Amino acid sequence: MAFVRPSQVRSYAKAEVSLAVRGSVDAETLAARLSACASGPHLQRDAKVAVGYCGACGCGKNARSELSVKATMPAARCPKHRWSMIARPTKREGWVAKVVGALRRFKNQ
Ligand code: SF4
Repeated sequence: MAFVRPSQVRSYAKAEVSLAVRGSVDAETLAARLSACASGPHLQRDAKVAVGYCGACGCGKNARSELSVKATMPAARCPKHRWSMIARPTKREGWVAKVVGALRRFKNQ
């Protein structure tokens, strides 16, 4: 079993919480992230999963670290900074969109 640093545990927890609270990143951000992964040297392809795994983050091959999952998490980070050129969803935008969506759903009931 690979050694997991406390910073990796914190980073993973933060990413999972961001997904639970804010929901997935938008389709454009997801596509840009996966494109960066597909063209990079760290992608570990696996025929059993849709995209593959990141070979640089140390997460290994578990269901939550599969890139089609990881890339949806707003607070997930690329350890090689290949996602840094992609516009990052902010907490404020996430919360505002969530509140506006809830108000619209409530109004339409
Ligand atoms: S998260 Fe970053 S390092 Fe990992 S596969 Fe994607 S682009 Fe490569």
